[in-house]
Amino acid sequence: MSLYKPEALVLRVRDFGEADKILTLLCRDEGKVQAVAKGARRPRNRLAGVSQPFIHCRLLLFRGRSLDTVSQAELIDAFGGLQRDLASMAYATYMAELTDELIRDNEPHPGVFLLLLASQHLLAAGAPPEPVMHSFELRLLDEMGYRPGLEACVHCGGPLSGSRVRFSPNAGGVLCSNCLGEDESGTVISRGAVEAMRHLLTGDLTRVHLLQLEPGMAREMTEALRYYVAYRLDRRLKSLDFLDLVRDQSASGA
Ligand SMILES: [Zn+2]
Repeated sequence: MSLYKPEALVLRVRDFGEADKILTLLCRDEGKVQAVAKGARRPRNRLAGVSQPFIHCRLLLFRGRSLDTVSQAELIDAFGGLQRDLASMAYATYMAELTDELIRDNEPHPGVFLLLLASQHLLAAGAPPEPVMHSFELRLLDEMGYRPGLEACVHCGGPLSGSRVRFSPNAGGVLCSNCLGEDESGTVISRGAVEAMRHLLTGDLTRVHLLQLEPGMAREMTEALRYYVAYRLDRRLKSLDFLDLVRDQSASGA
């Protein structure tokens, strides 16, 4: 039986059998892997601590035909800041589900691993979650080969003139004010929102949370990116319901 020792983030946890858990892992070098943690639902089990969402760990895994098996685990970071704060947890859950949904098993994506790790760190440290989430969405799309064109009109190649442009998943980016009638998909947004997205996509990842988004622009960006992401997925993400509930509460000042 072959053994390997990946550094991993736990994307998802499901109960399995009497006392086991199945972990969906994003391994730094091996990509997405499904592994069973035997006995992990028993409180004093030695794998219980790492068999939780968001955990950053080093594992010893036995390779199996469809499921790998966790043999040993060493905790690197439990992301306590995420576990303690419902809002941060909602954002992190969305990022994990989006990653799980876009990546196929056993395809290496070290860039996505580092992106998710850095984004979880920002959320756990209490950074404003909206720019962190949008930066994550844009960079994840980029890593998966779906980078939206934000520099010039993707239809005519010209500069983004006019105050309103279309952010079109079908065309693969932004259409200028002259071309926005060429495609009906996506949403029409301000040029300011496009500039902010450009910064979130290409700026220093450790500083994206410092970008101040005024509410109207934040709404446009959320709507545009939701549409763009949904275009790439086959189904609606379950975590969005929880995320929207938390966002509504924070918007109403609760
Ligand atoms: Zn154009």
